[in-house]
Amino acid sequence: MGPQQRGRPSRRWSISSPPGPVVVVVGGAHGITVGVVAADGTVLSVVEDGPLEVTPDGFAAGRAMSHVDQMLAAASVDPTDLSLAVVGLPGPSSFSGGVGDGVNAGHPPSGHLRRFRTWDGTSPVNLLREHLGCPVYSENDVNLAALGEATAGVATGLPAALHVGLAHGTGAGLVIEGKLHRGHSGLAGEIGHLHSDDGGRLCHCGSHGCFWQTRSIPALLESLADAHGRSFSITDVAEAAAREDSDVERALLGFSEALGRRLADAVVFIDPGAIVIDGSLGAASATIADGVRDALRHCAPPGLARNTQVLVGELGIRAPLLGAVALARSEILFSSTAVPAPLVSGR
Ligand SMILES: [Zn+2]
Repeated sequence: MGPQQRGRPSRRWSISSPPGPVVVVVGGAHGITVGVVAADGTVLSVVEDGPLEVTPDGFAAGRAMSHVDQMLAAASVDPTDLSLAVVGLPGPSSFSGGVGDGVNAGHPPSGHLRRFRTWDGTSPVNLLREHLGCPVYSENDVNLAALGEATAGVATGLPAALHVGLAHGTGAGLVIEGKLHRGHSGLAGEIGHLHSDDGGRLCHCGSHGCFWQTRSIPALLESLADAHGRSFSITDVAEAAAREDSDVERALLGFSEALGRRLADAVVFIDPGAIVIDGSLGAASATIADGVRDALRHCAPPGLARNTQVLVGELGIRAPLLGAVALARSEILFSSTAVPAPLVSGR
């Protein structure tokens, strides 16, 4: 028998508490999404709104900050209880793991991107950190949606998925085994900047004739507006696709076949197993997925075409919110004393 212990027995307690909710702000050319999501993936509140006003100091942040306050109130969350906030922005992935402001460090914004990454004359990361008093991280907006669909949406459990974002341009995010593949420069998956036209105009990326300039949903909306003499929104196109309007269907199929040919090249390089088409376009997403499927059949090696599922995202505007929680988990951003509960499926 060992020596008798005296006093209270020594015992190692682990004190842990569940992590607090996450604020997510996604800002693009055609609108913003602001929401609050619990660490288990339950979306507590979310709102969509039009794009922020452009000023000489970049985007005017006031409306985004008002939405943050309103969404916190709607979710009955006190800012002091937040674990962190995540900002989703167009352009190269600027995830810094907490080093610097995460937006402009390493990727000084220029031209078109400066506007997205400068709010009230500073970075949105700095602005939200001051506003909320919690750690704030940034990530490419499509990457967040890709993570959401890969961990709580239509691509859950697949070893790899290439997610195609369309609402704000043409981009993609690649998730492998539940983690983002950002590439050496944070530009992996930027299919909108594939070279497509030798005589094309200069792009904000510094190249010219990039695919997105003529092949994107915003470009398609412009061409529909020119042809019909009135403005077209994404909602108009989604509704027209739902009632099988022939003009809109033809425009969507032309776009999706061009997109599918570029994705056929990506499939050869990456062999992702699944392509997820942005599900935020309603019935138009399904039409685009059909066109991409056809293009893969025509342009990719048959074995790869057969083995590549073309899926439509199912989380809609919740995709980047759930992606932010997945980012916090995969990059271990929640406090080390906090134990996240299992993810709630977004389905
Ligand atoms: Zn470009």
